[in-house]
Amino acid sequence: MASQMNSTTNNISGSLNTLDSNAPHNLSTKDDSYDPEFEALITAMLNRLGENPNRDGLQRTPLRVAKALDFLTSGYTLSVDEVVNDALFDDPCEEMVIVKDIEFYSLCEHHMLPFFGKTHIGYIPSGKIIGLSKLARVTDVFARRLQVQERLTNQIADALINILDPLGVAVVTEASHFCMMMRGVQKQNSSTIASAMRGNFRSDARTRQEFMNLIRR
Ligand code: ZN
Repeated sequence: MASQMNSTTNNISGSLNTLDSNAPHNLSTKDDSYDPEFEALITAMLNRLGENPNRDGLQRTPLRVAKALDFLTSGYTLSVDEVVNDALFDDPCEEMVIVKDIEFYSLCEHHMLPFFGKTHIGYIPSGKIIGLSKLARVTDVFARRLQVQERLTNQIADALINILDPLGVAVVTEASHFCMMMRGVQKQNSSTIASAMRGNFRSDARTRQEFMNLIRR
């Protein structure tokens, strides 16, 4: 668990550095800003919550929140074609390919609170295969938006159908939702599973079962 948290932190700071270099200002000094309009909204929110945005610990919070939210919704500015970047290869293989336990972090569109978990993706090629790491990149394109888990699952499946034109695609997501864990019913141990089956995985129960057996191992 600890190593997972570390790699996530590295990931986020790495991408924020990229955002920094595109920002109009150098952020090295305390008074610089990132997106004044966005930061003003966050300052207003802090006031609304009864906080004092001028106290020491909160001085750069609007800037940090603005950058974090831009990163967490960066999927809006990405396309599947862009992240796949031609990592498609001709191959006659027609056996099932599975990548399981791809971690993802998203925001529920109803509360703007995180939901996070794992995606399992399987496909049966029909002439074309995809670089395996690209399955994780495609997941992030759709996870880094305001989402519902059902739509996220279907969007990943449909994107793979579009780019690979395979015999079938299966996507299963398992997630925990902060809006259920921290508020509302406050159920910390529930997890939500969604699936999207296309092609063979939908029409052939044995293919679907083989996939389900393999991801549960
Ligand atoms: Zn929610």
